[in-house]
Amino acid sequence: MKERKSGGPRSCYKKNGAPKTAFKTRKEAEKAIPRTSTGLRPYECPVHGWHLGH
Ligand SMILES: [Zn+2]
Repeated sequence: MKERKSGGPRSCYKKNGAPKTAFKTRKEAEKAIPRTSTGLRPYECPVHGWHLGH
């Protein structure tokens, strides 16, 4: 497992410190992935539901 205390790929926040968009379900998160994006995928967050990340 790749885990870091902060700033990792599974963080709730972007690199600039802004909170990531949260989705209630995995499907909602998948719908929000831009077609131009590569490697972006939803991951579960115990606090917010789902976020998108690489
Ligand atoms: Zn979160």
